Amino acid sequence: MCIFCKIIAGEIPANIEYQDDNFIVIKDIAPTAPVHLLIIPKKHLSNIMEIDSTLAGNLFTKIKDIAAQFGVQEKGFRLVINTGDDGGQTVGHLHIHLLGGRALSWPAG
Ligand code: 5GP
Ligand code: ZN
Repeated sequence: MCIFCKIIAGEIPANIEYQDDNFIVIKDIAPTAPVHLLIIPKKHLSNIMEIDSTLAGNLFTKIKDIAAQFGVQEKGFRLVINTGDDGGQTVGHLHIHLLGGRALSWPAG
């Protein structure tokens, strides 16, 4: 089982900020911004290449709710989906980084 599946199963403790039937939201263990959340589908998908339209729709709708819940909707935030080796993905379970709470520089990487 992958590390995020273990967190979802409750086998590894995590700072769970939100969860429902389809998603879990945790604080990144190594935050790079004052708000650094990981929005993780409970279903194990290796990366964004495995997503379908239903999950994609639900995911972006959930992201809007989470952004509002964490108070970053007005000043803004950044979503990051690292994919594969060149994308810098280190955990092979689809997750979206939500970064905010400070002015972020661009371009990244
Ligand atoms: P990736 O590089 O795959 O896009 O991001 C994986 C992220 O997961 C990293 O930012 C890393 O800090 C975070 N992470 C890895 N293991 C854990 C963990 O056990 N708990 C939490 N909360 N975050 C983790
Ligand atoms: Zn998994």
